[in-house]
Amino acid sequence: MGATPPRALTIAGTDSGGGAGVHADCRTFFACGVHATTAVTAVTVQNSVGVSGFHEIPPEVVAAQIEAVVTDIGVTAAKTGMLASAPIIEAIAATIDKVGIGRDHKIPFVVDPVSASMHGDQLLADNALAGLKSLLFRRASLVTPNLDEVRLLTGIDVRRRDQMLDAAKAMFDFGPQWVLIKAGHLREDPECVDILYDGVAVIELPGPRFDVQHTHGSGDTLASSITSALAKGATMPAAVEFGKRFIVQAVRNAYPLGHGTGPVSNFW
Ligand code: PLP
Repeated sequence: MGATPPRALTIAGTDSGGGAGVHADCRTFFACGVHATTAVTAVTVQNSVGVSGFHEIPPEVVAAQIEAVVTDIGVTAAKTGMLASAPIIEAIAATIDKVGIGRDHKIPFVVDPVSASMHGDQLLADNALAGLKSLLFRRASLVTPNLDEVRLLTGIDVRRRDQMLDAAKAMFDFGPQWVLIKAGHLREDPECVDILYDGVAVIELPGPRFDVQHTHGSGDTLASSITSALAKGATMPAAVEFGKRFIVQAVRNAYPLGHGTGPVSNFW
């Protein structure tokens, strides 16, 4: 009999094509030696070409999944992905307070503010942005926006590397413990230098820039590899450095699938 491993929870939507969302998160948790648990927020109808529809799970069923997992199995870190609607965000905020997940509790909480797919399909209702800002960010140990999400959430349109810190400060004002601004969308920059900020320290995370087609699920995979390291007890800077190494390898090994965009890979 083996020992009980670290356990992580993803609160996110499914991807029927197996590339992103809950599927990417579970694959990443397994690849990192972490038991995967899930609270599904929405079932998407999706393939490599895009998202053609989704069905939201009732908020009370999302809350019940979180409670069932945490009160029995226990988790050592949690993350969010696609949250779909304002009522689902409200249910999550209330439930994580109840079960002790979040920046003021023992269980670290990573919020990936997913708003749309890379094909532009909307994954979060317009009226749910306010809930993300006022209810989830201040409960987060870490928020991980890309530059499109930064623009949507703060109005700051980052075009150059030297504007990244302004974005980090604006995100920090929403109340998370740490902010990771991802530079992936800064396409004219020859490198991909993400920054991690906690209101004081600015940690640069340099990495190569890949000119590749297949990057489906890359944001989810980065956030879930960071969550895996947190589940194993890493500090935030160490967890984010691990996540950066993990995603570079996953993008390097990305593979074609279907007629559109293939996923980043967790095959090792
Ligand atoms: N589908 C689901 C359920 C997701 O959670 C996400 C991202 O978080 C996506 C699709 C979009 O992934 P990508 O932007 O990598 O295509």
